[in-house]
Formats: sequence, C-alpha cells, structure tokens
Amino acid sequence: MTFDELNLAPAILKAVHETGYETPTPIQAQAIPAVLAGHDLLAGAQTGTGKTAAFTLPMLHRLSQSAAPKNKFGGKGIRALVLTPTRELAAQVEESVREYGKYLDINSTVVFGGVGMNPQIDRVKRGVDILVATPGRLLDLQQQGFLDLSTVQVLVLDEADRMLDMGFIHDVKKVLALVPREKQSLLFSATFSDEIRDLANTLLKNPQSIQVTPSN
Ligand code: AMP
Repeated sequence: MTFDELNLAPAILKAVHETGYETPTPIQAQAIPAVLAGHDLLAGAQTGTGKTAAFTLPMLHRLSQSAAPKNKFGGKGIRALVLTPTRELAAQVEESVREYGKYLDINSTVVFGGVGMNPQIDRVKRGVDILVATPGRLLDLQQQGFLDLSTVQVLVLDEADRMLDMGFIHDVKKVLALVPREKQSLLFSATFSDEIRDLANTLLKNPQSIQVTPSN
C-alpha cells in the first residue's frame, strides 16, 4: 500500500511525501481509513509504530473538509483535542500536527504544565483548531475560564495506559465531561488493563479495534 491510496487530501500527501515516508506503517494502513470513515478507534500500538501520523493525518483531512465553529469567546473553536500523558509527548505530537498540516489552513497549539500560563492563554484565546494538551494544565485553563471545549469534534487519548499509570484518570474523566457527547473518539494504548477497557467502554461507540506489534 502507498500513502496515495489512502484518499488523503493532496495538501496532506504533499507534506507526507516531504517527510520522506514511503509506505504507511501497519497502524497507519489500518487506522487512516477507519478514522476517515468517521469510526471510533481502539488501537493497541506502542511508540515507534507510527501511531502519531495514524491519527494526525486522517484528523487533519477531516478538519480540512469542514469550516471552523465559533467558540463562546467569538474566536475559532477547538475542533480536535489530543490528550497525552507528558509534556514531551504533547510537544512531539503538536510538532507532527504542524508538519503534516503545513499546507492546510489549520492551526494548532500545545499546552502543558511546568511553564507559564499566559502565552498559552493568549494562543488559545486567538482561536485554535487543534489543541494538544496534558490533562492537568488543560483543566487549569478550563477552570479559569480560558477554554471552551464545547466545539470539540474529535478527541484523541494518546498513550492512554501511561496517562492512567501517571494517575490522570480523574482528570481524563473531567475532560470527557467537558467535551460534547457526539464526537469521534480515538484511544491509543500500548497495553490493555481492565481500567483501560473500562475507559474505552465509556468513551468509544462501536469502535474499530486495531492491534499492531511494534517494529524495531
Ligand atoms: P510514532 O510511533 O508516532 O512516535 O512514530 C515513530 C517514528 O516513525 C517517528 O520518528 C516518525 O517520524 C516515523 N514514521 C511515522 N510514520 C512513518 C512512515 N510511514 N514511514 C517511515 N517513518 C515513519
């Protein structure tokens, strides 16, 4: 299979070709068509499998096909929210979003704790299509009234098992209560404990399940 067979927008394919990737990895080959078709997804995949592009590419495609909603502040509303366990992963994911989306009229930003809040508040207030965040800082910003998550159409939980291992289950549940019920949800996890399965059962509607083994 080639990337050209995946029905992604030409602007996305151009950015993918520039990265030098030749063929989709197994998780990409399976996840991209499912996400493009609007399905929820339960994906078993570790870092190194190409999981970031597996959700980022079809998410960018879908967002590029529709107009941005307005948030309650009158700016561009957040359409996709990606939660990650660590700031390093959040920064990496947002960098991928920028890279794959560089020929699209879609913007993104990243918020995480341990750094000043004001620059994050400024960027979020100006309006953003895709927000990548760690749960704690996201809730801080929301509780202070700087975030409107009511326009979210796609929710991604990346490395959900690590998120739970790090004690973020309550924060994740709070975030789930702030986004609309009607949305597309994608859950990526390397392992599947009962807790992850419970989370998947609450969040996902008729999900497609994908499991890949890591490539070395
Ligand atoms: P990830 O699992 O998303 O952390 O990605 C692992 C690494 O694989 C990253 O450095 C990506 O840039 C790279 N990568 C992602 N997709 C592909 C692909 N289709 N072909 C080659 N490398 C890729």
